[in-house]
Amino acid sequence: MKNETTTKPTPMMQQYLEIKARYPDALLLYRMGDFYEMFMDDAVTAAPILEIALTSRDKNSENPIPMCGVPYHAAEGYVARLVASGRKVAICDQIEDPKKAKGLVRREVTRVITPGLILESQNLSAKKPNFLAAVSRSKRAMVFGLAYLDVSTAEFRVVEVDSEEALQEEILRVSPRELLIPDGEDPLWVHQLQRRMDFTLTSLDRIDFDRHRSEERLVEHFQVHSLEGFGIQNMEQGIEAAGAILAYMQANLLGKCDHIRKLLPYSRSDYMILDEATVRNLEVFQSSSFQGRQGSLLSVLDRTRTSMGGRKLQQWLRYPLLDLDRIKARQEAVAELVEHAELRTEILNCLEGMNDIERLNSRNCTGTSTPRDLVALKKSLQVLPALKKMLHSCRSPLLQELDQSWDELSDVAELLEATLTDPPPLTLAAGGVIRQGVHQELDHYVRLSRDAKSWMAEYEARERQETGISSLKVRFNKVFGYYIELSKSNLSAVPSHYFRKQTLVNAERFITEELKTFETQVLEADEKRQELEQQLFVELRQAIVQESERIQSMAGNVARLDSLASLAEAAAKNDYCRPVLDGGEVISIRDGRHPVIEQFLQEGSFVPNDIHLDQEKQQIIILTGPNMAGKSTILRQVALIVLMAQVGSFIPASAARIGLVDRIFTRVGASDDLARGRSTFMVEMQETANILHQASPRSLIILDEIGRGTSTFDGLSIAWAVAEHLHDFKDVGIKTLFATHYHELTAMSETRPRVKNFNVAIKDWQNEILFFHKLLPGGANRSYGIQVAQLAGMPQEVTQRAKEILAGLESGQTSLVPRPGPEQRRSRRFKEEDTAIQLSLFKPSLQWLRDQIMALDLDHVTPFTALQTLYALKEQI
Ligand code: ADP
Repeated sequence: MKNETTTKPTPMMQQYLEIKARYPDALLLYRMGDFYEMFMDDAVTAAPILEIALTSRDKNSENPIPMCGVPYHAAEGYVARLVASGRKVAICDQIEDPKKAKGLVRREVTRVITPGLILESQNLSAKKPNFLAAVSRSKRAMVFGLAYLDVSTAEFRVVEVDSEEALQEEILRVSPRELLIPDGEDPLWVHQLQRRMDFTLTSLDRIDFDRHRSEERLVEHFQVHSLEGFGIQNMEQGIEAAGAILAYMQANLLGKCDHIRKLLPYSRSDYMILDEATVRNLEVFQSSSFQGRQGSLLSVLDRTRTSMGGRKLQQWLRYPLLDLDRIKARQEAVAELVEHAELRTEILNCLEGMNDIERLNSRNCTGTSTPRDLVALKKSLQVLPALKKMLHSCRSPLLQELDQSWDELSDVAELLEATLTDPPPLTLAAGGVIRQGVHQELDHYVRLSRDAKSWMAEYEARERQETGISSLKVRFNKVFGYYIELSKSNLSAVPSHYFRKQTLVNAERFITEELKTFETQVLEADEKRQELEQQLFVELRQAIVQESERIQSMAGNVARLDSLASLAEAAAKNDYCRPVLDGGEVISIRDGRHPVIEQFLQEGSFVPNDIHLDQEKQQIIILTGPNMAGKSTILRQVALIVLMAQVGSFIPASAARIGLVDRIFTRVGASDDLARGRSTFMVEMQETANILHQASPRSLIILDEIGRGTSTFDGLSIAWAVAEHLHDFKDVGIKTLFATHYHELTAMSETRPRVKNFNVAIKDWQNEILFFHKLLPGGANRSYGIQVAQLAGMPQEVTQRAKEILAGLESGQTSLVPRPGPEQRRSRRFKEEDTAIQLSLFKPSLQWLRDQIMALDLDHVTPFTALQTLYALKEQI
């Protein structure tokens, strides 16, 4: 290596280049001694990401090779950072013992880590899945197969959808870290998705998506005769996508994927559809004010004690059910755990001691588990019998089912307990991982190295006596091995069988034949011990792999129990009730509360409200009231209560009856989406159009302030037309809650029988506004905007002037005499007409506009004509 030149690479560099050529799109971490090194472009890319020094291998040559490295024992954290930055990392290890290697040590890539293929906990959020997804599209029809897998938990699912929109929605719901598509494809939906979420896009050879190869690959991996057992035999695109995932995983984990034992197909129609906008608007997982979990529905409901439970609960919230039996089964289990507070507490406390056995199991199956991982697994398995006892007394079918399928895994726990020391050393190489008594030969070697110390003491005493030098020392260090040390002053008494080994400033070090023999024995014993420990540990790992399916299925059971107990705990702590669910059309909630907002208020100060929606009499509620009255809160609380109910959770209300809802649509607030290049109004209209196209009679629609993003007349007319359309839509009543500050809309109830007006109570008291947050029948007759402006600290002159203008407008005055501005007051030259034109915009008569809109046949008008009509109307205003 010393005489390396830039023209001819050293044998080692040659080896590096050969391996690197096989992984061109990954950063190659090349093991050299105690370090993983990166060279050339890889080093230049990685050094700034890892904040480590970029050096070079051969500083004195003309073209030094850039290089940087990380210590192997800390590699996990560094790899995590590289992967988090969206890079792929190939780990190249020494695959033979350097001491035994003849010439260059053999090295090979043992794993490639990509953002979608992570097993290490450092790069995973405990309570979040980490999905790798693949999409395949049919050439003949509009059918997409979407498959996704979390290698760290072995969750593997597949679904087919029939539109790009549904595909995008489903991908957003799954939110994968990495997405695989066939090489050469560059569909528009991918670009659209890239603007809406962060993920790494990977193109994969088309052949990996091939239908027949995919099927063969799946059949072989799962060791089944056909895919019928999984119920996916007819999902052509689903099979292609799942096959591609398997191909990618096998290539990068290099075959170690035996823990993936199931592929679960589902249909979008099995679950309530929650699109990304609704999840965001309802702040199910994240709140916009805190930019995180705090303030979200999840934060209120998640009282899980294990990561597996945390992930399961999120999945339940992401996929609310449509199957009454399944919902009721969850409800019953939750009810039982609400009722038996002691049992619930015991279960939750017990779960506290449980590690993430799902991910520990996956790591073990892929050969990446450490001694500490396996001890963590053991400790968790040891909790299972106690939980089983608790489940035994339960009566609800779901908990009984858990009891019956509860595998205590005592044999696995016992094997781990009997084999591994506890606590074990950090690494296998440190030694002392395997308990005494497991293996006779190992015990023998351990004894030899342990006895070395006492032998040295004995030998030292003996030599002191024989030489008469009381300061003689027998010592060991890593560089020189064993030696006898004498100070310079005693050198005259050195016996002839001492051989000089090293000279220090004040002392000399010696070796003897006896000490040499001893050294060889001890070093050999150490080596043997290490080898044996390694071998026994690998055997143990393999024995646990044999039981991985049992462990995995228990991880699922623990997750389910944890989620149910968590829902029960939230219900008990927050005083929730059990809703009645049925296949009917009614949503009726008594004393409903907003699950999140009530947490932020003083206990008991949230004002509960009743809400009733049905298809016959009260299909659309038009909710008016000033800003801050609580309109949005009511809207969202209804949607959240429905969502919670279909998850199987209890709800914040005193009673409720809920007819199953297939989809919740929300159009909330006028948030700009400039990042996606769409104006507020455009977003609003697109989302509203989407709702009108897709809603079914079983849907629930929440519309908050639609039409606000444009001028008053535009907004009002659109809001009006939308509400009317929903009322008249195909003669079926889609339940809708419509909050608006256009109190003109309340007039609609006169012509549309299923439209009902409500307002949120407030009181104008001594010119100040008091909020009662109470829902009352009837519309609000004014908007109290000025009082709210006053509350917000607007200068008094402004609010006073606003009151004057309002009074003028309300009295039907179309051109107010404007107050002269300071400029005009000074110059006294003031053009009245200008302001009069401005103010005439607020002309209260809307009849002409109303007539034109009413004349439109919305059922037969194309979007383009609708837009043209809008333009024309706008022209006329
Ligand atoms: P609006 O949509 O009418 O402008 P919001 O629904 O945003 O009003 O409510 C404004 C604030 O009023 C909320 O943030 C909350 O603090 C409070 N609030 C709303 N509803 C209630 C309620 N039922 N009980 C107590 N406080 C409420």
